[in-house]
Amino acid sequence: MSARLLDGAAVAAAIRAEVARDAAAFRERHGVAPRLAAVLVGDDPASQVYVRNKIAACREAGLRSDEIRLAAASTQEEVLGRVRSLSADPDVDGILVQLPLPRGLDRLPVLQAIDPAKDVDGLHPLNAGRLFMRLEAPVPCTPAGIIEILDRSGLPIAGQRAVVVGRSEIVGRPLAFLLLARDATVTICHSRTADLGAVTRQADILVAAIGRPAFIRGDQIRPGAVVVDVGINRVADPAVAASIFGADSPRVRTVRERGYTLVGDVHPVEGAERAGWLTPVPGGVGPLTIACLLKNTLRAAHRRRLPS
Ligand code: NAP
Repeated sequence: MSARLLDGAAVAAAIRAEVARDAAAFRERHGVAPRLAAVLVGDDPASQVYVRNKIAACREAGLRSDEIRLAAASTQEEVLGRVRSLSADPDVDGILVQLPLPRGLDRLPVLQAIDPAKDVDGLHPLNAGRLFMRLEAPVPCTPAGIIEILDRSGLPIAGQRAVVVGRSEIVGRPLAFLLLARDATVTICHSRTADLGAVTRQADILVAAIGRPAFIRGDQIRPGAVVVDVGINRVADPAVAASIFGADSPRVRTVRERGYTLVGDVHPVEGAERAGWLTPVPGGVGPLTIACLLKNTLRAAHRRRLPS
């Protein structure tokens, strides 16, 4: 292994400590802590874990938070009604709606029902447009976390060739805009990109946000590149884990004992051999996402109290 580790957990801990310090000052000044409302519709197990972790992180940083559970069978109007009432509640500073929503619910009207001033995931079209126009806006948490780890690791962005694989509204697109705003030369790839490896091999900074375990192979990485692996994929087959990590890897034992192991979108063994810097999975981008959610909640609480 030659790649140096980009330690997302350590950077996230530093951000969370800063938020905790600033949240204490906020409480001192306003007599109340910032408050996040996390809306979870349905009972998808991964979404439940994500929301639980977000609530726990809020508590640890001294922010108030509520989990608002709605049944999977909720109608569009019921979800919209709940989000609208949170938008109207003066005691709520930040709102997030955990995605994906259950089948049959349309996420765009739901995101549009969030007061843009409380939109801590930065997914309201108004905020996405503000990001596009380089105006002050809440930045989606995963892309914000990626910029944080590059900056706090002293890795340059300006002038670098950045390739982002994945064009989702929550990761790939906003990240590409952030990198562009920081003067990287940015290419966005997706499922219809021809000869993906020829493009990714150009990258000084390669970001994989695809959702396919170990998809980016060593020969698609420029030797020495900074590689950010956004993917969080559950691998539940010990044979697949063995084919990725090697038959003797503790990860194979994890699959047998726990039922799965988390694998990124970059082949972890080949990525570590080729890259100069690499975010691990788990412990890379995931913790940064939550840390930036806390930061966005505090930011929203501050901005709502600015004199207009
Ligand atoms: P998504 O909405 O499913 O988007 C996946 C993107 O990958 C799409 O743009 C798709 O292209 C592209 N893609 C799919 N197959 C491809 C291929 N063969 N070659 C090139 N591109 C391909 O996923 P997402 O929400 O961005 O999430 C991506 C991954 O990141 C998932 O594993 C997710 O769990 C993880 N994630 C992690 C965090 C975190 O905190 N660490 C946060 C969010 C997401 P098309 O547009 O052409 O379909």
